[in-house]
Amino acid sequence: MRNLLLGSILLICPTWVFGIQESPLEIRVFDVGYGQAVLLKTNSCATLVDAGPAASAEKIAGWLVEHGIRRLDHVLVSHDHPDHAGGLEKLLSLCSVGTVWRSLRRGDRLSLSSNLTVRVLGPEELSGDPNDDSLVLIFEWGKTRLLFPGDIGEKRQGEIADKDRRWLKKVRWVLWPHHGDRLHPDFERLLKKPNVFWVVSVGPNPYGLPNPAWMNPGKVPARLFRTDRDGSLVFLADRHGRLEVGR
Ligand SMILES: [Zn+2]
Repeated sequence: MRNLLLGSILLICPTWVFGIQESPLEIRVFDVGYGQAVLLKTNSCATLVDAGPAASAEKIAGWLVEHGIRRLDHVLVSHDHPDHAGGLEKLLSLCSVGTVWRSLRRGDRLSLSSNLTVRVLGPEELSGDPNDDSLVLIFEWGKTRLLFPGDIGEKRQGEIADKDRRWLKKVRWVLWPHHGDRLHPDFERLLKKPNVFWVVSVGPNPYGLPNPAWMNPGKVPARLFRTDRDGSLVFLADRHGRLEVGR
């Protein structure tokens, strides 16, 4: 009986899937409508990137409580627009939060837990446009790289593609900038590859996003996920660059 039970545990344990002794990194993209809030969870650390709009704070806090996450160790805010930062104040009142990071600059690097770090690719200098001044973050989990470009537009995407080609080439998972808006050709070329997971975090909005011209079947990446169609999304990443869709 004990062996049977142990076998069952191994079968459902994510480490078994990857054949390693370590839990995978869980990437949870909350369905917050038009906005963005993504939880990165390791077995020792919970990091939230953006807090979604104000209306989503209770939903996120409720989910954290339900799943035994008592504390967000880090919250990174890409920029101050309400679809990314509107839920922050309420979330701070509902959750225990370690450090809130807002004003990072290119070259900064944070160690979030023993195996998870984040490197800041942008902004280098502020332009005055909040979207283009979004934090551009690349998370490093072993050999796995995840790119969070906030709401940067084509010009900034081109700059990143130019300066950070070697990092972008290693990315396996990316949030589509500005909720599915236009892409710079170099940014698109470096990242639109069959093994890269693309996620559009979007809901009803008056801006026509995601951009229909970029969502037609001949144009979209091979692995595309959308919160407006798929709801909240979960991905599991091991430290060797392997990713899979979780539940
Ligand atoms: Zn936005």
